[in-house]
Amino acid sequence: MAGKHDMSTRVFAIGDFIRRVVESLLHGGGRGRFLCARCLVKLAKNHLDKSYTTREVAQAMEDVFSAAGPVMHVMASSICAVCARKGVACLGVPSR
Ligand SMILES: [Zn+2]
Repeated sequence: MAGKHDMSTRVFAIGDFIRRVVESLLHGGGRGRFLCARCLVKLAKNHLDKSYTTREVAQAMEDVFSAAGPVMHVMASSICAVCARKGVACLGVPSR
């Protein structure tokens, strides 16, 4: 149990960071584009310290998806703007 707690604490710590990275990715030229979690994890990892594992980033991304907040929006079944997968949950900033 202690190990699990340590891990969720760490995920919580990177959660805010990931959220900021994702927001800046989706805001800039990405406004109006919706991306799936898998692609966002890949993109976010480019902006993160190499010590973060894909698993950790993916877990933090799940939290962002489950609480997208006022700026970002989750579409439950959409087409990813990057990998073109269909029927996946995608996160983005609506263009209007
Ligand atoms: Zn994708």
